[in-house]
Amino acid sequence: MCEETKFSVLCSLFTWIQRSRTSAKKRSKFRIFLDTFCINGHQFSAIRLILPNLDRERGSYGLKESVLATCLIDALGMSRESEDALRLINWRKGGAKTGANAGNFAMVAAEVLQRRQGMTSGGLTIKELNDLLDCLASSENRTEKTSVLSTLIKKTNAQEMKWIVMIILKDLKLGISEKSIFHEFHPDAEDLFNVTCDLKLVCEKLKDRSQRHKRQDIEVGKAVRPQLAMRVADATAAWKKLHGKEVVVECKFDGDRIQIHKNGEEIHFFSRNFLDHPEYKYAMSNIVAQNLLVDRCILDGEMLVWDISLNRFAEFGSNQEIAKAAKEGLDSDRQLCYVAFDILYVGDTSVIHQTLKERHELLQKVVKPLKGRFEILVPSGGLNTHRPSGEPCWSLIAYDVDDVERFFKKTVENRDEGIVLKDLGSKWEPSDRSGKWLKLKPEYVHAGSDLDVLIIGGYYGSGRRGGEVAQFLVGLADHSGPDTYPRRFISFCRVGTGLSDDELDAVVTKLKPYFRKNEYPKKAPPSFYQVTNNSKERPDIWIDSPEKSIILSITSDIRTIRSEVFAAPYSLRFPRIDCVRYDKPWHECLDVQSFMELVHSSNGT
Ligand code: ATP
Repeated sequence: MCEETKFSVLCSLFTWIQRSRTSAKKRSKFRIFLDTFCINGHQFSAIRLILPNLDRERGSYGLKESVLATCLIDALGMSRESEDALRLINWRKGGAKTGANAGNFAMVAAEVLQRRQGMTSGGLTIKELNDLLDCLASSENRTEKTSVLSTLIKKTNAQEMKWIVMIILKDLKLGISEKSIFHEFHPDAEDLFNVTCDLKLVCEKLKDRSQRHKRQDIEVGKAVRPQLAMRVADATAAWKKLHGKEVVVECKFDGDRIQIHKNGEEIHFFSRNFLDHPEYKYAMSNIVAQNLLVDRCILDGEMLVWDISLNRFAEFGSNQEIAKAAKEGLDSDRQLCYVAFDILYVGDTSVIHQTLKERHELLQKVVKPLKGRFEILVPSGGLNTHRPSGEPCWSLIAYDVDDVERFFKKTVENRDEGIVLKDLGSKWEPSDRSGKWLKLKPEYVHAGSDLDVLIIGGYYGSGRRGGEVAQFLVGLADHSGPDTYPRRFISFCRVGTGLSDDELDAVVTKLKPYFRKNEYPKKAPPSFYQVTNNSKERPDIWIDSPEKSIILSITSDIRTIRSEVFAAPYSLRFPRIDCVRYDKPWHECLDVQSFMELVHSSNGT
């Protein structure tokens, strides 16, 4: 019955839920919907539309806002230069044209659609919508996608189409948690989803709300929602929280959290959003098959890149590139390396209920470590790979808070992401962030007045700051001579956080007279800026004369990253604005040369 229900009914539910103020009211609306329209099975067809981000049955649509905008423009038969088309393309931008909806793509789309679609519903059923969304996901090019969207537009009104846009973008903004939806659906739904990551299976197994389901354990081949870490402020807080427990401290590696599921010949690499990564499969399956000594097993760990020539892990961000290079058979001195820090299943048994200490022992039994390729993380030097300084210390048992402090200090010196503390007596629990694992990251290190950079562009925000510049593209000076003012600025990084709303407003107001809009079709930047062709760095506005711009003092976590996005060779990880330097003239901005010296001195190279 659920399948034959009209999609308009689901849209009314969405509107009700969105408008209800309290969580109890939101939940009761959902309950009424379930009791009225989902009584004879097929609940999955509706639930997958309510929780689109958890639906893995149809792959990705390949439609983020910008591509969706062009497909919708074509599907509606609009000229790309028309006012409404520009509204969609520049959906983040505010002003009279986009109105109050700037920054909310679905709302901007609804406005545009309202002028083109009638009020009457086309009578689309939930089943028909799912079939069309399947076509949308499986269509391979924009022309096909546009044609599916145009069928959807014919069968819906503007309201319905707005919700479909949100389903495609996988965020309904209903203000109700996934937990509440699961709970109303069935008291055991969340638990079952956590161990299977399979929404269809949850809906099929838990059709009857009155029938309780025996807690299911994890299975090889089905992704499990990962155990998570709780953030703590400092070593003392961490030590206090784990008071009386046997504690291991580990390096917090900065890569991709990946679960490896091995079932005979079959090997999966599941990411945190339950996707099976084909590129890791290609690059790492052989290594895993040869060095994982059991037939069936689930490992939990981090996929990283190992730099053979530097004999260390590479900076975050190159996993996909390296996986691609491996697939293309390109020679490289960098390779993927999996670090297993936990084991969840061995042979035909789940081991998540055993203590971490026992699981470490299992890990040592089943993995044959291979340096720089496949490592295990267990206390006192299990990891084959040594730190650059020579010590094997990636993990150790802490006996007092000083041990934690010392280990943490070392990670800061080594420019690692931080540390994770774990209770060695604890079991592994899916989706748990209650404090069995604690994470401690270094505070932003004050880079002082050295990182004084010039604002060269701006990006519109979304949501609350939709339509207003909320982030900046900043640049470093490129000095042509010792006693001259810089004539060129090189794009360096994008920064948005750190200022209060008032401080941000003050900067934006001061710079507004010098904004040069960089709207579609994007034009070349002003000649005094050097940027890359990477679309990620294209700002929405340029500052059209550097002499009028403002210097920001930025801080960052200690690490710099090699940059392919920005024109400067290095960029910053997690930059933050520390303060606005109204007192400093534009030409005293940090130059590339000095910045490179800073990078080299902090790298020790
Ligand atoms: P963050 O952005 O801080 O990584 P998060 O929400 O992605 O936060 P958390 O569960 O809070 O993830 O932090 C743990 C994450 O740290 C894991 O998901 C994993 O990817 C990563 N990690 C790196 N090294 C370890 C380790 N030794 N033990 C556990 N997790 C680790």
